Amino acid sequence: MFNRLYVHVPFCIKKCHYCAFVSGKPEKSGLIEYPELILRELHLRAADSGPVASVYFGGGTPSLLQPLQLARLLEGIADQTGIQSDAEITLEANPGTVDRMSLKAFRDAGINRISLGVQSFDDRFLTCLGRIHTAEQSRQAFLDAREAGFNNISIDLMHSLPGQNLHQWRSELLHAISLCPEHISIYGLTVEDGTPFAGIYPPDSPELADEDLSADMFEMADQLLTASGFEHYEIANYARAGYRSQHNSAYWRRDGYLGLGVAAHSFLQDGYGIRFSNPDNLEEYRRDVTSGLLPRVDEHKLAQHDAMAEFMFLGLRLSDGVNLYAFEREFGRSLESVYGAIAEDLVRLGLVVQNEGVLTLTLRGMLLSNQVFSRFL
Ligand code: SF4
Repeated sequence: MFNRLYVHVPFCIKKCHYCAFVSGKPEKSGLIEYPELILRELHLRAADSGPVASVYFGGGTPSLLQPLQLARLLEGIADQTGIQSDAEITLEANPGTVDRMSLKAFRDAGINRISLGVQSFDDRFLTCLGRIHTAEQSRQAFLDAREAGFNNISIDLMHSLPGQNLHQWRSELLHAISLCPEHISIYGLTVEDGTPFAGIYPPDSPELADEDLSADMFEMADQLLTASGFEHYEIANYARAGYRSQHNSAYWRRDGYLGLGVAAHSFLQDGYGIRFSNPDNLEEYRRDVTSGLLPRVDEHKLAQHDAMAEFMFLGLRLSDGVNLYAFEREFGRSLESVYGAIAEDLVRLGLVVQNEGVLTLTLRGMLLSNQVFSRFL
């Protein structure tokens, strides 16, 4: 049913100005009780699972948890489902919440991959984004993580920031490359409704990057990072050989995963798949879990046509692409018979290429990926 676990930690010291994730300021008691709620929820759900191949602590700011709490969580997971000996265990860390000692303690607790939310190496942009850390803190957190023994570190960077030009974006990329991380994730800023940014930057704001500038930044990242030895293995992700994110790659391959915690999403491999999410409200989540109820909302059992569409638009995100034979094996129908006309059209438009039975996005297809994916819905 699932062999991966995602744990959502919905707490942040302060809300960033662009953030639409489910997160809020924690009560101290909330932070203390949360790991026990997670383990209770796992106990309610884990009946038919085996040892998990990866655990991902995301947020929010999971690095607000104490190393001992993470150790306790991993111990509880190992007791209930088991954790494979070579499992990838990732902690998202905000550079403003860690230091040399805590990173060493996270490593000792069993975390073996750190994903650092750097976003920018320029303090002016960090202030504009409402981040709680400086560029120097990010650099230091990276060096401290190395010294603590992490040999798998990812850096998150954002482009298309208000007022950012290509020259500044190039400096950000060079700065990230100079630290020699194993993995880099690149996201373009999107202004989401309901965030402070939505009030400051209307869609036609001259401060925001237009489509052409965003495309140039995307292409610059591709050129600089691949020339520096990174593989552009997913639209937003780059890795050195052997360091793709195992956990996130599983999402795009439609492996089963269980999401634990407030607002966590799950995908169970049952029939064509079941997707559901947890309540996005801590009170409701706590009430359900402590009274022994499964906190499940928005459950959706996929029909064959849903699963086929997902197979296409998730698989195309990866540079491995969609294998025509794998599609037929999975669904008992050829890809040509279901999506032949669409695939042909996308190839004609230069958004997709077909090579030796595999469909992959071109760089232009990655840039226009939403348009490509909408064709399969
Ligand atoms: S640290 Fe991440 S989750 Fe928290 S407010 Fe900022 S962007 Fe949102």
